[in-house]
Amino acid sequence: AKSHGKNRVELYDVAYDVKLRRRTELEHELRGAIDRDELHLQYQPVVVLPDVRPVGAEALLRWQHPRLGKVGPDEFIPLAEECGMINRLGAWVLHQACHQLSRWLAEGHDVWVSVNVSPRELHASGYVDQVKDALRAHHVPAQRLVLEVTEHAVSTDVEELIRRLRDLRETGVRIALDDFGAGYSSLGQLRRLPVDILKIDHSLVVRQMVRVVVELGHQFGLEVIAEGIGEQEQMAMVVEAGCKLGQGYLSGWPVPAEHFEARLESATSP
Ligand code: C2E
Ligand code: CA
Ligand code: CA
Ligand code: CA
Repeated sequence: AKSHGKNRVELYDVAYDVKLRRRTELEHELRGAIDRDELHLQYQPVVVLPDVRPVGAEALLRWQHPRLGKVGPDEFIPLAEECGMINRLGAWVLHQACHQLSRWLAEGHDVWVSVNVSPRELHASGYVDQVKDALRAHHVPAQRLVLEVTEHAVSTDVEELIRRLRDLRETGVRIALDDFGAGYSSLGQLRRLPVDILKIDHSLVVRQMVRVVVELGHQFGLEVIAEGIGEQEQMAMVVEAGCKLGQGYLSGWPVPAEHFEARLESATSP
């Protein structure tokens, strides 16, 4: 029995060690990822339901490492948040997205772009100025940029969050509350939050609980986007619930900027 226990301890140690080493390696590599040009953005269309016409796009960060291959944002974003790199990454994303957006607008496309903002960025002093600088540098009208904040940000200090969002909104950008319904809070807080757009989490779409949230969102004067529409059945349910905007694999995967642009162009031609 004793040796059994020992083996188990060793197994556990090995698994822990592998995880820790991956983490340490990713952290180290991520520090140089911007300079080595390993990051890029993909754009997932937000469409008018049940149509396929894109009205906007969410910018999603991608990391392609020469040796480690593709590393997903679900793995490296939390890491970047923990080790203090998220602000640098976020600044890069913001500039990249504004640059791309300015080109699409210059070509006459009627489109907006959203970027994800981590709580740590939102609460950093100077973030509002950073947003203003990015808009100015790329000549992007503020209302064409959407900043997506998550419900996690709500659970911390609501008053502080409200102040932050107000300041941001004064620049003219629109705010989307991301992943709505994924947590527990918020139905009550929603009324108080200065947001423009409500993004209904994928998990609510799957559980067919969309209608009440859509109605509530519209009652509060918000635009409502149903996320994670991956199947025809979900599409039908979301449309039935009165939701006018949607995003998901069914209407378009996240794609490189050129591919999204091709969709914009085919949507505008007769
Ligand atoms: P999110 O903001 O909720 O983004 C939506 C995620 O759902 C994306 O995953 C997208 O690829 C995925 N998705 C799209 N359509 C469907 C669908 O029909 N079904 C399902 N099951 N999933 C769908 P992705 O790109 O892996 O990003 C994961 C998360 O990483 C994002 O979740 C966001 O929280 C974070 N993230 C990505 N890019 C950035 C960034 O630039 N900054 C920050 N702070 N976070 C980011
Ligand atoms: Ca998002
Ligand atoms: Ca989301
Ligand atoms: Ca073009």
